Amino acid sequence: MIAEEIQRITSALPQGVRLVAVSKYHPSDAIREAYAAGQRIFGESHAQELQRKHTELADLTGIEWHFIGHLQTNKVKYIAPYVSLIHSADSPHLIEEINKQAVKAGRTVSCLLQLHVAQEETKFGFTPDEAKAYLDSGEWQKLTGIKLTGMMAMASNTDDTARIRNDFKCARRFFEQAQHDYFNDTDFTELSMGMSDDWHIAIDEGSTLIRIGTQIFGHRDYGI
Ligand SMILES: *Cc1c(COP(=O)(O)O)cnc(C)c1O
Repeated sequence: MIAEEIQRITSALPQGVRLVAVSKYHPSDAIREAYAAGQRIFGESHAQELQRKHTELADLTGIEWHFIGHLQTNKVKYIAPYVSLIHSADSPHLIEEINKQAVKAGRTVSCLLQLHVAQEETKFGFTPDEAKAYLDSGEWQKLTGIKLTGMMAMASNTDDTARIRNDFKCARRFFEQAQHDYFNDTDFTELSMGMSDDWHIAIDEGSTLIRIGTQIFGHRDYGI
């Protein structure tokens, strides 16, 4: 079933859009099954869980681990040595810690600025104004351990597809503006948007990385 879902999703992806299989709360065996079906990018949102799976699955060559959830600064050190992309760089303070731990590990870690565009109080991330202020500050240009390669956004948690589309449009507009104003177009290219319930809309609106858990692995058992 995991293999069929991956096949179904990846065959619907336009060129240039990649699938992040969100494996949080699912066992390593489920990841092995997805890997056997050809999936290579996996998304996790808890540092310790990722650390455990990274160790358990060390034999899977070419696997790429993406971190997608809120990352506490004191946990960065566990994942900095191997994480491929952090989608959820949501504050200047966190970015500095990622930089510090990456330098310690002798790496440059790619990060996406997490934008807050949903009309909800609870989500982490930079508002467009805060992101602009941070990019204007130029602080990120001094950090050799991180590379900003794009942005991530989550839409409002609602059934109102017009509102979801609007959130994604807002993120894309800001992403393109930032790409133009602050980056060389070839370096800042990733727009991470879209989950199980809204990835079709996200792709319409320019997503390059969709993050899908439930549709691939089924419902999460938070008891484990
Ligand atoms: C859990 C999670 C997902 C996957 O959500 P599904 O609805 O299960 O596809 C995507 N992005 C983030 C940031 C998540 O925390």
